[in-house]
Amino acid sequence: ALTVDNLTEWINSFAQKVNDQKDYLSELDTPIGDGDHGNNMARGVKAVQESLENKKPAELTDAFKQIAMALISKVGGASGPLYGTAFLEMAKKSKDTTDLGELFAAANAGIKKRGGAQVGDKTMVDVWEPLSDQLAQGSLAQEDIDKAVNGTRGLVAKKGRASYLGDRSVGHLDPGAMSSGYLFTALIETEG
Ligand code: ADP
Ligand code: MG
Ligand code: MG
Repeated sequence: ALTVDNLTEWINSFAQKVNDQKDYLSELDTPIGDGDHGNNMARGVKAVQESLENKKPAELTDAFKQIAMALISKVGGASGPLYGTAFLEMAKKSKDTTDLGELFAAANAGIKKRGGAQVGDKTMVDVWEPLSDQLAQGSLAQEDIDKAVNGTRGLVAKKGRASYLGDRSVGHLDPGAMSSGYLFTALIETEG
């Protein structure tokens, strides 16, 4: 089960990965987007870390809310509101449960509702949906994360900037799927 301390550890680990891979995330966003995903996410995770340091949350729900607010106000682009929604939905759900499968199911439903994407549209949903299901089953491993992220390469983008390219989006990894992959990797590393 999740606590404020291991949630903070998870998010700090995610922030580290985003910072380490900032240029790579922006490179992924260059052929099928506007080349800013790494910068957007790095700005967001910095704000998240500052928020958690400035005001240590008393409860899990407060921690999720602070994370959501920092992401919404600082990431920008298409991904900011979507990541923000994910953590806001986890904040709401955390009033009833600390079960990761349930928290992620709520987050994934929020992303899909907010952005209108389904599995197969070459977005972060292609990572959030299958991996949330696997978390619920208690069997998430790094190879599942790699498979979900790499699976976006062959897809035609149907949502977001990459969709403007139509069939020419095929052959490129989705940057939001990659950053979401880091979030899940950080989670299983923290749990393990
Ligand atoms: P922008 O495209 O506004 O520059 P980012 O580059 O930060 O924003 O984020 C792009 C990522 O956002 C995409 O790679 C994709 O994963 C995700 N994304 C964009 N639109 C949607 C959507 N409607 N639903 C889910 N994810 C989306
Ligand atoms: Mg972009
Ligand atoms: Mg942009």
